[in-house]
Amino acid sequence: GDDLVRAVDRLMRHADGARRLGIRANADTPEDAARARRFGGEGIGLCRTEHMFLGERRQLVEDLVLATTDEARQAALDALEPLQKADFIGIFQAMEGAPVTIRLIDPPLHEFLPDIVDLSVKAATETATDKDRRLLAAVKRLHEQNPMLGLRGVRLGLVIPGLFAMQVRAIAQAAKEVPRARPEIMIPLVAAVQELEAVREESLRILAETGVQALVGTMIEVPRAALTAGQIAEAAEFFSFGTNDLTQMVWGFSRDDVEAAFFSRYLDLGIFGVSPFESLDEEGVGRLVKIAVEEGRAARPDLHLGICGEHGGDPASIHFCHDVGLDYVSCSPFRIPVARLEAGRAALTDTDSDTR
Ligand code: PEP
Ligand code: MG
Repeated sequence: GDDLVRAVDRLMRHADGARRLGIRANADTPEDAARARRFGGEGIGLCRTEHMFLGERRQLVEDLVLATTDEARQAALDALEPLQKADFIGIFQAMEGAPVTIRLIDPPLHEFLPDIVDLSVKAATETATDKDRRLLAAVKRLHEQNPMLGLRGVRLGLVIPGLFAMQVRAIAQAAKEVPRARPEIMIPLVAAVQELEAVREESLRILAETGVQALVGTMIEVPRAALTAGQIAEAAEFFSFGTNDLTQMVWGFSRDDVEAAFFSRYLDLGIFGVSPFESLDEEGVGRLVKIAVEEGRAARPDLHLGICGEHGGDPASIHFCHDVGLDYVSCSPFRIPVARLEAGRAALTDTDSDTR
């Protein structure tokens, strides 16, 4: 038993000594953050915040959806802010001074809004309230045929005034209360530099007001963002590749539906050996990543580069990330040990690592 533990420990230290890639975790609770630390995670590369608006907080989200005046909307946001602040304090504490990339809310609306069928049933009953009926009308108004290509990410932030600002303020206030907290603010689903500039400006103003330092950067997960990476890097201190959405959009495959529908046929035809959602497709998604790395670094030489799609924990994809020159991969806490080993192997088998 002890011998094995020592052997694994030696192997891990060997890999850690060799690897050039940093290893971060995708984590959005203090429990996951602590687990990430125990597995050797050097930071959080993706803290998704949309989950923080579910459960008991749905009520507040409903108030936000129903708000028809600036005052009502701001009241709903003001109620959410202290809850968000507490969320971030817990995560900063668990990370003990390691960097935490917090992604501003990116909710596919269909997962986020009350269920339209449930609401319809409720609104049709005799005990239905005026609020039930107004909520049904609002949810119908927001209904989308393709929610994954709809009002998500930065688009939502631009459409609901104060939403992103509330989160940035909560991040800044939380960082003030946790010694050594290292927040990084990440904007999702950016396709054009103008989207990023609008959010970045507002975020920097809030950070300046609160006297908190934080990097502001963006996900690269829409093909257009990768293709305009030079412009986008002018407004971003870091890029994190969202290869889940990038794969969806490069192949035109729905993340949620396609695997069962026709992937086995694609495997038979040898179009791919494993699902491109599991292992990074170097010919398509990988080419966009390369373009974005090159153009991004040309525009901003100190640009930090990471990946936080599922591929960040996949061994073959980790080798690709090393080769293309990313700074870190971010994956589920449970995949961190394998990621550390693969990042070490990638460095040890890299014959031109000295020339980088
Ligand atoms: C991605 O798209 O790769 C990503 C990390 O974001 P999400 O999975 O939350 O869409
Ligand atoms: Mg995404």
